[in-house]
Amino acid sequence: MFNRVEPLVDGNVLRVLARLQACNLDIADQKHHKTVFWPQAAQLVKQTLDDSGDLRPGDFNQSLMELGALVCTPKSAKCTTCPVKDLCNVYKMKKDGEIETVEQFPVKKKKNAPQDETVITCIFNYQEKYLCVKRPETGLLAGLWEFPSVMIEDPKLKQKEMIEKINENTLKSEQVKKALKLDGEAKFAFTYCGQVTHVFTHIKQLLHVFCVTVKEIDPTMVDDKTKWMSSADMNQAGVPTLVKKVLKQYQNHNKLVGKGVQKKLPLKRKREESEDEAEDTDEE
Ligand code: SF4
Repeated sequence: MFNRVEPLVDGNVLRVLARLQACNLDIADQKHHKTVFWPQAAQLVKQTLDDSGDLRPGDFNQSLMELGALVCTPKSAKCTTCPVKDLCNVYKMKKDGEIETVEQFPVKKKKNAPQDETVITCIFNYQEKYLCVKRPETGLLAGLWEFPSVMIEDPKLKQKEMIEKINENTLKSEQVKKALKLDGEAKFAFTYCGQVTHVFTHIKQLLHVFCVTVKEIDPTMVDDKTKWMSSADMNQAGVPTLVKKVLKQYQNHNKLVGKGVQKKLPLKRKREESEDEAEDTDEE
């Protein structure tokens, strides 16, 4: 069990290996760990022990980790006092003027700009309970509750066209039809409540929020993918931040309407005001 000639690879070791070999792979990418860095570390621990004839792989692994933690640090490598500087390719490149600093390694892959998505989301309000549907079990926010939503290709649709999308998509969904107890074509007077921006790691979503007050439905017409929830229920169900932001936007819109502000504003101002309310973004 002990003294087995096995490598150990942590973040410090990954950095040391990348610098020793001037390796330009992204050490944050897990797929390189198994295929490149673990085999390299295995080779290194084996070679070193073969050369010395001393079977203390634990000490070797510990030394490599400490080298990364104390000498070959991320932002200020102490190359002049480094015990392996003569073996280090990055140090040589620095001395030869090929790179400005050894800290240029490991290379960091540039993050792609988040992809823009535009979504129309609709709050159906029935006696302060809101229709929520479950997202698919895979993909973004898998299996979480949200307001019925539809993604659109054209980010420049007018409000009237967005309402057409709700009619064509959201109101055709079996889940929504069942919860709203819709038989044929439904006619709802949707109100625009403003927009919300939310940034995920790779996606930036712009959500246009619409609402409608529903008067006659059977709230028991639900299943495990459709629920009428109060805001307290939604908190308890652990809805994503994005959904909380949409609900807040809706509530703020209602407050403005209650004060009679919304009606006095021209459409462009209404939009700007709504955007101001919803400008905060975060990672999820
Ligand atoms: S010489 Fe510098 S870059 Fe190379 S392993 Fe040592 S501290 Fe790291």
